Amino acid sequence: RGPGGQRGIPFTKPGSLTKVYAVASGKGGVGKSSVTVNLACALAAQGLRVGIVDADVHGFSVPALMGITQKPTQVDDMILPPVAYGVKVISIGMFVAGNQPVAWRGPMLHRALEQFLTDVYFGDLDALFLDLPPGTGDIAISVAQLLPNAEILVVTTPQAAAADVAERAGTIATQTGQKVAGVIENMSFLNMPDGGRMELFGSGGGAILAERLSASVGSDVPLLGQIPLDIRLREGGDSGKPVVLAAPDTAAAKAMEEIASAL
Ligand code: ADP
Repeated sequence: RGPGGQRGIPFTKPGSLTKVYAVASGKGGVGKSSVTVNLACALAAQGLRVGIVDADVHGFSVPALMGITQKPTQVDDMILPPVAYGVKVISIGMFVAGNQPVAWRGPMLHRALEQFLTDVYFGDLDALFLDLPPGTGDIAISVAQLLPNAEILVVTTPQAAAADVAERAGTIATQTGQKVAGVIENMSFLNMPDGGRMELFGSGGGAILAERLSASVGSDVPLLGQIPLDIRLREGGDSGKPVVLAAPDTAAAKAMEEIASAL
């Protein structure tokens, strides 16, 4: 039955060595997708075998962030994902025409995710990233059911209100029994030409969130890093070449690299 052999989700089979990370956030626009693609590209550049499942069905953005315009190809009954910067990527955005909205509800989302995980041929991976939709919706629960071994990475901004919302996305893991691998604070500050730091969105959200999640899951949830605001990070996204590859000397790229190495 195709290169995958026996069907089922390969990443949950006994003996699977793939580390699965579900990247979550409380709300949209905090940089969850940017973090996902940069971590994936950083690990791929280190020589690891990496895949991304864009599970942000209503707000898919991974193909654009990775500069992918190719469609998946089909060989027998397997779907071969496009590859960019050494990362295998599958997204619902590759199956809709143009920029159409996807108006699916729970059961269809679950089926789509299940199909991505069973029918897409990723081969052996060292790391698989899932870019979750913001919030605590149906997909987060589907991920917990389909990939109980997935560890959660929670992305937040330094703002207290954002951390509050992100906490809800993180604590879902306690209900599903998943591990929270850590918190990533994005948009932490802006490095100023005079050497100072401007904290546009306040400070402390990531540390507070890590502390609160540690208490609610009952084990240490580390703050894995703080990523500064950087025009080149945004430009990297807009041009389809993540900042870790496009401008590796920037503080934002270095922060991403450090987080990737800590995974
Ligand atoms: P989410 O997936 O949480 O909705 P995105 O990754 O799409 O967020 O990021 C939202 C917008 O903010 C994008 O335009 C992205 O380029 C920009 N962005 C994210 N993080 C940073 C950062 N650290 N510096 C500058 N721009 C950023």
